Amino acid sequence: MLNGTGGSSRISDPKRQAKLMSDSEIKPMLPSAQPPPEPTLVQIEGIGKVAGGIPSIIATAKTTWSETGILRGVRTLLRLNQKDGIDCPGCAWPEPDGERSHAEFCENGAKHIADEATTKRLTPEFFEKWSVVDLAEQSDLWLGKQGRLTQPLVLRRESTHYQPIAWDDAFALIATELNSLSNPDEAIFYTSGRTSNEAAFLYQLFVRMFGTNNLPDCSNMCHESSGSALSETIGAGKGTVSLEDFDLAQAIFVIGQNPGTNHPRMLTALQRAKRNGCKLVHINPLPEVGMTRFKHPQEVLGWLGAGTALADLFLQVRINGDVVLLKGMMKAVLEAEDRNPGAVLDHDFINSHTIGFAELVSSVRSASWDELVEQSGVGKTQLEEAARIFGESERTIFCWAMGLTQHKNAVANIQEIVNLMLLRGQIGKPGAGLCPVRGHSNVQGDRTMGIWERPSDAFLDQLASEFGFEPPRRHGYDTVKAIEAMHEGYAHVFFALGGNFLSATPDTEYTADALRRCKLTVQVSTKLNRAHLITGEQALILPCLGRTEIDEQASGPQFVTTENSMAVVQASRGFLKPASDHLLSETAIVARLATAVLGSRSSVDWQSLAADYDRIRAHIERVVPGFDDYNARVRQRGGFHLPNAAGERIFNTPSGRAVFTVHDLPLIKLEPGQFLMMTIRSHDQFNTTIYGLDDRYRGVYNGRRVVFLNRDDIEAAGFSEGDIVDLTSHFEGEERVARRFVVVPYSIPRRCAATYFPETNVLVPLRSVAEKSNTPASKSVVISIQASAENN
Ligand code: SF4
Repeated sequence: MLNGTGGSSRISDPKRQAKLMSDSEIKPMLPSAQPPPEPTLVQIEGIGKVAGGIPSIIATAKTTWSETGILRGVRTLLRLNQKDGIDCPGCAWPEPDGERSHAEFCENGAKHIADEATTKRLTPEFFEKWSVVDLAEQSDLWLGKQGRLTQPLVLRRESTHYQPIAWDDAFALIATELNSLSNPDEAIFYTSGRTSNEAAFLYQLFVRMFGTNNLPDCSNMCHESSGSALSETIGAGKGTVSLEDFDLAQAIFVIGQNPGTNHPRMLTALQRAKRNGCKLVHINPLPEVGMTRFKHPQEVLGWLGAGTALADLFLQVRINGDVVLLKGMMKAVLEAEDRNPGAVLDHDFINSHTIGFAELVSSVRSASWDELVEQSGVGKTQLEEAARIFGESERTIFCWAMGLTQHKNAVANIQEIVNLMLLRGQIGKPGAGLCPVRGHSNVQGDRTMGIWERPSDAFLDQLASEFGFEPPRRHGYDTVKAIEAMHEGYAHVFFALGGNFLSATPDTEYTADALRRCKLTVQVSTKLNRAHLITGEQALILPCLGRTEIDEQASGPQFVTTENSMAVVQASRGFLKPASDHLLSETAIVARLATAVLGSRSSVDWQSLAADYDRIRAHIERVVPGFDDYNARVRQRGGFHLPNAAGERIFNTPSGRAVFTVHDLPLIKLEPGQFLMMTIRSHDQFNTTIYGLDDRYRGVYNGRRVVFLNRDDIEAAGFSEGDIVDLTSHFEGEERVARRFVVVPYSIPRRCAATYFPETNVLVPLRSVAEKSNTPASKSVVISIQASAENN
């Protein structure tokens, strides 16, 4: 057992520090933007051996029992991810098109559902008792465990507590603030990836009729880099595979991704592929149990055995060594082609479908093996072995997630995958292709529905002709720019359709300061989170229905639709009685908001659209390509696939061909004593929602303020396992500090460190972003480590 406590942090930029100090003079007690110092006894047991199995079943049963009771829990779980059932509000991993099992969910899906279907309720008495400052002293885990929000709440100027407010009054307050802005661009409209297609489409329509494209979303912080990289190279921002391709693949590469925790049912697809003889290669700075060995929780006979060994090869790449590693694989592929001309590269594909081949080859050949091995941290033999598996596979899939997308050179990371795959024509044929794995259930669908600060002219033209108005053409703020705009006084109203903006975003104290400068902050939510406690001058919480609940509107019960990671659009129908009679659906909230704000300025009959979601889908069909016959096709069991041009080798780039791109090796300079840190998720967490303090797969229990380091680095720095340290990040002369983390020795490359987010978001500088995508570089944070100042 190791003693550890949470800690505080500060911004050391003198100007910002001065501003914070002057704020605190005006407001003596600001609610804390970070979880409080929470005394914990962190227990370190070492990395687990197998994912899934009986421990998963026990964890599922425990969560379900404690939040919903067994009967309600089982009824809900049996509908999860079923055709005609509830689409899991967790990650965006798809379900099979054909037969589905009765338990088509994972441990994490069960936790999401239990969290939403909980029988605990937040009453008016709760908010009478707890001031905002007192709530902010509680942990994120505690906030989430208090139960469902049951009525609209307002935090008025100078008041200390949230109070109930009538829906009409809440919308009137928002309308007053929005309509008194001098320019619509002074408002920010954020969207989380849980929002349904219908609510998202209506929301972007309202926002554009209001007059702005300020529609940042959680995509800006995750797969924006994938979208930018793929649009440039294959002419579409989405992946090219379907779930069925996993059954046909001969090799699957999983890079910068931890499916066991973040997309657990992907392990089922990998297990099936493995049993078909497919080779699996895992590339990551940390070995992840889910990629090592897996016991399918539903295979009773497998519970007692050792489980299925998954990865045939694990390449322990340095943090941000991926561009170099992929170049190394390409170099080995080219050398194999040299030895056996015509046997490795797909020349027909390269000649007929691509441009830029010669430039790529010359850049790869110019990189020396010494620098490739040194900078990737992976030996030449291992790189050649990975290249051999790649070169011998006729059908290859490459999957990736945040491990690639949150670096300065994130777009280059993904484009190097595209380069490699193009060399062997591994895009646009069965069993092969690109698979960015999305982390939130409808994050891809929201973008398809027009939630984007940089909409295409084609989309705006369709919107204009369908609704008879001229949408704004000027690009809006993405997430990073929105925070800067609020901080610098260019934006005054912040509206969030779902999510936990404060905890999802980098540079916690700066972001908190930005939100505090707003006149009004509004959050549409199902449960309490830290974003409700860091507010503008006034704040509203608008409680909405969850996916599990019956969505009754004027024309009868409604279903919503979502799009998963593989572009399948399907229906989701709730069946539970809503947590309170006062809840509105997200769609109804947007419709009433639009009516209150736009009034006679809009000719759209918002209430009629909210009364019958078929009417919204009819509009979507006429605006968004690929949704023909939407209402009929989405009623087919299992939904329908959106068109996938790149998957058919139609590359919608300016040249009509897929594009090889050339990237320099990234320069990562660490001073003596510095480490490159990445933020990661624990197994008891989904994005910003914390379900517990354990990370079973990494063997860390009862605490989250830990820093994973290589044992040799710990020794070299004069630390020992269990020491309490402070972390300082360094960026362009600025320092940010996060205090009191427990040192945990782990299998991680030298000079690398890993910590959980959101606790270390405070260390991620807002201006440290990926080129082109502007995604915060949360996986490339330069830090130094000191014995904790609070030890003295
Ligand atoms: S894999 Fe993702 S979508 Fe499926 S049940 Fe688990 S969390 Fe939900």
